[in-house]
Amino acid sequence: MDSYKMLIDGRQVDGENGVFDVLNPATAAVFAQCPSGSLAQLDQAVKAAQAAFKTWRYSSHAQRQERLLAIAADIEHEAEPLARLIVQEQGKPLELAFSEVMGAAAWTRYAAGQELSVELVEETPTQRVELHRKPLGVVASITPWNWPFMIAVWHIMPALRAGNCVISKPSSLTPLSTLGLAAIIARHVPHGVINCVTGEQGFGSAITAHPGIQKIVFTGSTATGQSVMRGAASNLKRLTLELGGNDAGIVLPGTPVDEVAEAIFQAAFLNMGQTCAALKRLYIHESQYQALADALTQIAKRQVVGNGLEAGVTFGPVQNLEQLQWVEALVADARALGGRVLCGGERLPTPGFFFPPTLVADVTDGHRLVDEEQFGPVLPLIAYRDIEDVLRRANGGDMGLGGSVWGPDVEQAQALASRLESGVAWVNCHAQIQPNTPFGGSKMSGFGVEFGLEGLLEFTGQQLLFVRKAQQ
Ligand code: NAD
Repeated sequence: MDSYKMLIDGRQVDGENGVFDVLNPATAAVFAQCPSGSLAQLDQAVKAAQAAFKTWRYSSHAQRQERLLAIAADIEHEAEPLARLIVQEQGKPLELAFSEVMGAAAWTRYAAGQELSVELVEETPTQRVELHRKPLGVVASITPWNWPFMIAVWHIMPALRAGNCVISKPSSLTPLSTLGLAAIIARHVPHGVINCVTGEQGFGSAITAHPGIQKIVFTGSTATGQSVMRGAASNLKRLTLELGGNDAGIVLPGTPVDEVAEAIFQAAFLNMGQTCAALKRLYIHESQYQALADALTQIAKRQVVGNGLEAGVTFGPVQNLEQLQWVEALVADARALGGRVLCGGERLPTPGFFFPPTLVADVTDGHRLVDEEQFGPVLPLIAYRDIEDVLRRANGGDMGLGGSVWGPDVEQAQALASRLESGVAWVNCHAQIQPNTPFGGSKMSGFGVEFGLEGLLEFTGQQLLFVRKAQQ
């Protein structure tokens, strides 16, 4: 069985608390062991990062850019084995895992090319005022299990680009590809600039409360995000919180069903629905409800469910048993309230955590499947009649990550999309993200953004330099 090492101060080390098992969700069997670090090792990692920061913070932009480009090249070079590892620990089909790795390389290149310039606020004969952006110190990255490699890259690369040192803590369900990423990064940066620690119960909260860490970039559930925020108060850590979502999609009357069905299906079921900004509630105008439900059902039935390493598989397992049981419970609840399961709806009778793509019709707001984040392969289809009413329903609830409006009249769709209470609003697409477009949630979906200049600035603090010039 494969075993892996943590990375502390440039050295590959075992965990002082032994190891924990990592399961393959396609088989439900243990396929690897991951080091279980101790809190003393976490302290070592923080001390190493603090020591490295003393010089890394003064590295030039050109140096950091060159290092990140070299890291991107290595990620690409090792894309095949990394993708296979992601399939084993996370479950997604190989082609999608490969895109995750190649996307991560592209994001790394983008971070390399970003500029962090000094802003001239005022220049007069008597004074000059400049705004400088400085690295914060030690940044901790805490990542979830859905896109383990990609999200780690989203956290780590801008942090390094801005001159910070990093402690990365992946989910204990999917820690291995992140350990691989850290090993690649470590080839190109001084010891201690990147550290990666893995552990079980209590490790995340120890990071959150650690006084040697200046910022946490966290992606995960809202409940854990709240706990991170409480812990971070101890030394006023800066926070970026990318939390849960329950994105609504609204299909307007007259939308060409055949043209949008595939895109809507992909937006809802990407990564088996385990995507923060997936489309999670679909509101369809009653005039098209049946036609779109039929088109989506046909696409769902075409999916080949199975082990992501097997050729031809398009739909993998749910990542873990707990999540699968959550999805099962939401579907059962919808059924009990009169929901009609159009396809899927039952766990497959195999040892892996397979649940085929599932569409549930005749559900509405107030049902748990609509009101709560399913984060899995099931989509509720909700009929509506009145546009103001559907907007109110889409904006109901605590979450505010993304939302979309689909329609033949782009101006009308855009006008409605701009009234969605979400950090991102899409028109005729959903879950579209790019390295140059700031992304982040509103309401209980978190705060702060990733990507673009705004995302990079989140890894910096400001220093205003106010210079009184010599009197002439
Ligand atoms: P989770 O909150 O259970 O875990 C996320 C990470 O936090 C893991 O590394 C976990 O070990 C760690 N953790 C657990 N308890 C902690 C604590 N008390 N203090 C600090 N860290 C702790 O989330 P998950 O189940 O891994 O991921 C699914 C959730 O993530 C969904 O709600 C999804 O919407 C959300 N998500 C959001 C985004 C986004 O960009 N907004 C992206 C991906 C996933």
